[in-house]
Amino acid sequence: MANSKYEYVRSFEQQDVLLPETWIVVRIDGRGFSKLTAKYKFVKPNDRRALDLMNAAAEAVMKELPDLVLAYGNSDEFSFVFHKDCNLFERRASKLTSTVVSTFTAHYVYRWPDYFPETELTLPLPSFDGRAVCYPSDAILRDYMSWRQVDCHINNLYNTTFWALVQQGGMEPRAAEQELSGTVSSDKNEILFSRFGINYNNEPEIFKKGSVLYRDLFPTSTQSSPVPPRTAQSPPLTHTRPQRSIPRPMSQPLERTLPDLFRDSPA
Ligand code: ATP
Ligand code: ATP
Ligand code: MG
Ligand code: MG
Ligand code: MG
Ligand code: MG
Ligand code: MG
Repeated sequence: MANSKYEYVRSFEQQDVLLPETWIVVRIDGRGFSKLTAKYKFVKPNDRRALDLMNAAAEAVMKELPDLVLAYGNSDEFSFVFHKDCNLFERRASKLTSTVVSTFTAHYVYRWPDYFPETELTLPLPSFDGRAVCYPSDAILRDYMSWRQVDCHINNLYNTTFWALVQQGGMEPRAAEQELSGTVSSDKNEILFSRFGINYNNEPEIFKKGSVLYRDLFPTSTQSSPVPPRTAQSPPLTHTRPQRSIPRPMSQPLERTLPDLFRDSPA
């Protein structure tokens, strides 16, 4: 029964229920972070404090949304993976995306002073965009993750070389950009090594590969670090995969995390 003569406007709403039994990835990305990183004088090419803040915000998102099983982040982006069987918000894309984006943004701003105690946030405040995409098979989800990680690698190799030319080589940004145009990976490795004595392989893993957070779906009783208890602040787990532990950020290769995710749940 209609509540009012205005009720009909609901019929203008678009259906955006995502395909069942598919992995849902919500990727968020910082808006205008090229400017933001300059404004707050982030260490270039990689400000570790900012990466740790991204990881802290992502960890908070995973704690608040038990349907998330994996998150992968680098630079100003994070990809959050909802389990195939997730039914949160009846799998409505706009609800899932907006909840992830606003939860992430709220925690990013809330935790900022812990990571940048000397730098007060001023307007415009950091914000993020988001999108949801379904991946219909484990193999395609794996390729998605590899795509983001390869992007991290390519960008980081470029940025590391660019900033070496500028900071250590005393080049103007324009000139450094020109120097690098048309170069391939091996050229950049060579510039770093021969001109600046930098072996790219020795750069921190978190810069080269990004960060993975995952929920341990199959914790064993013999594991060295026991599943941490839920803290008082963490929400009740409304979904019943009772043994899922609280995710912790780490920079291990994705390949080591994904096989576990794809293991069949015990009957
Ligand atoms: P858009 O709104 O279209 O996303 P953007 O300026 O955010 O614009 P991106 O392609 O997302 O463009 O690039 C993010 C920028 O932020 C890059 O320049 C990247 O080097 C910088 N950045 C992100 N994280 C860090 C960090 N931890 N330390 C230093 N720079 C960072
Ligand atoms: P959902 O996550 O499904 O939106 P919800 O609890 O937020 O769940 P809503 O239908 O959005 O459900 O209802 C918002 C609730 O917050 C209502 O109970 C409303 O009365 C209360 N509320 C919102 N703003 C105020 C306010 N300014 N003062 C008092 N109560 C408020
Ligand atoms: Mg963007
Ligand atoms: Mg961005
Ligand atoms: Mg980005
Ligand atoms: Mg409401
Ligand atoms: Mg509400």
